[in-house]
Amino acid sequence: RRGRVEVISGPMFAGKTEELLRRVRRAQIAGRRVEVVHHELDDRRGEGVVSSHSGLDIPSRPAASAAEILDRLDPSVELVAVDEAQFFGPDLLDVVQRGADGGLVMIVAGLDVTFDGRPFEPIPALGALAERADRLTAVCTVCGEDAPFHERVVAAADGDALTAGAEHVGGLESYQARCRVHFSAARWRT
Ligand code: ADP
Ligand code: MG
Repeated sequence: RRGRVEVISGPMFAGKTEELLRRVRRAQIAGRRVEVVHHELDDRRGEGVVSSHSGLDIPSRPAASAAEILDRLDPSVELVAVDEAQFFGPDLLDVVQRGADGGLVMIVAGLDVTFDGRPFEPIPALGALAERADRLTAVCTVCGEDAPFHERVVAAADGDALTAGAEHVGGLESYQARCRVHFSAARWRT
């Protein structure tokens, strides 16, 4: 079998997990044996599942490190899907290449940008080594344009979201998708 690497990247809310799960479902319809993996530290939306912001989910095996992605893999598995792959850090690069070199289809979804607008490795590097890399955008929460970024915001008492600044002390924070015009970190670029 011929392996390959597919990367699905972008900011939060871009639909990376939805796209990953779409490809997983299609492979399952085609009769391929699929293994879905997530990092064990990523238990924000329940144990043993990968889930999207729109509520789709699918059973998933937790892994403690990049090496464990390929550990104890049943020999019948043809496709490995990894969500929130940025959690695995720099070791992800070798593991994903090794899987693909060994004949597996490796589909990897993850954040490639930080909330302050910097490249977030290892996902950008992995895209450079892939047969296919798709960068998705979210929808800007201010104006509805394509949002290549996300930023941290702090909920105000009246429920409105304020952009986080130096006065931010943690607590009521969350993230919003932002276009280039409405991305506050752009103001701090030199
Ligand atoms: P990701 O994995 O990239 O964070 P998900 O696949 O989990 O994204 O979620 C995508 C879904 O999030 C969309 O289909 C939509 O239902 C919902 N959503 C909520 N806010 C936004 C937004 N600002 N832009 C795009 N989608 C959003
Ligand atoms: Mg996701």
